[in-house]
Amino acid sequence: MIYAADTLGIYIHVPFCLRKCPYCDFYSCENRLHERDAYVQAVCRNIGYYGSQMNFCRKVDTIYFGGGTPSLLSPENILEMLCCIDKYFIVKSPEITMEVNPATVTIERLLGYRKAGVNRLSIGLQDLHNESLTSLGRLHTAEQGIKTVMSAVKSGFENISCDIMIGTKGQTEELLYSTLKHIVSLPIKHISAYMLKIEEGTLYARQNMQDLVPDGDAVAELYLNMVSYLNENGFSQYEISNFAKEGFESRHNCRYWKLSPYIGIGPSAHSFVDKRFYVPSELDSFIKEEYQTTLTEDEYPDLETEHIMLGLRLSEGIPIEWLNIRQQKITERFVKGGLMERFSDRIRFTPHGFLVSNAVLCDIL
Ligand code: SF4
Repeated sequence: MIYAADTLGIYIHVPFCLRKCPYCDFYSCENRLHERDAYVQAVCRNIGYYGSQMNFCRKVDTIYFGGGTPSLLSPENILEMLCCIDKYFIVKSPEITMEVNPATVTIERLLGYRKAGVNRLSIGLQDLHNESLTSLGRLHTAEQGIKTVMSAVKSGFENISCDIMIGTKGQTEELLYSTLKHIVSLPIKHISAYMLKIEEGTLYARQNMQDLVPDGDAVAELYLNMVSYLNENGFSQYEISNFAKEGFESRHNCRYWKLSPYIGIGPSAHSFVDKRFYVPSELDSFIKEEYQTTLTEDEYPDLETEHIMLGLRLSEGIPIEWLNIRQQKITERFVKGGLMERFSDRIRFTPHGFLVSNAVLCDIL
């Protein structure tokens, strides 16, 4: 089985946002930006703590600043955390990704992040139609989104990813197509395309947005057409929601799907080092405590089952031998139905299969 345990990834959760988007259930706080320096100090204490504990794996080759809105931190904040990682770990040819909200950056800031060592940006475009952006509660316009991509290129970023959303209110085939057409023409290397889900506890759920967004069949149609379009235009699908030009797959995110170890620092951050654990979603205690000691173990299936579930998210699929004889027999039904396919000694989902992968996995496992 693929298990690159000889290197480590570090995920840093930045829990600040200018304003909460109505569909978002990630942990983030509004109006607490004045605490960012205290937060950065807490992150550095934790980096030091893990660095002194984890003497079995100190080679870090992926670092990811996610959120929340990491681009609300200054380049100096980012540099301080990266220097701290350098001090406690051996950092070799790293991929250093930072999520960027177009509403929060200028070219000067992007230059600062590049200078600090960030070499990959994940820009939250979401859509290239202002009406959709407004309905998603985003604070940037389509023009700002495109300007951010161009400024990132001017700042020296060669590895840029953009996020888009499908299944949003009022999204038609034509609107999605015009967004995709524009996005594939931008100087970017990677696209993440997420299907909008109405999560419990969000403003969208309280507004019954479920009734106002395209239904399941319409979203499936949008997804399948999008997959074909991106594949035909140089962005090959390598995971359910991720597409890349050759060689630009996200190294950090591949850790999650290949069960390679990573530590998560910051409120709500998840880790996987032999077992899964996470930090409480609580900025106050994260800043106050010396280290994030209150770690809760995640309940997950056994590692073999997880390897199968996560491996099947990838277009490369898994070796068929990972499945036992009973499971292999069940997959034959899905292969006949066009939801899975065999190639050499491997098995994977087709794009149709990705849409119903959870139900299929329940049957197989
Ligand atoms: S900016 Fe991102 S993390 Fe913040 S609320 Fe919006 S979607 Fe969530």
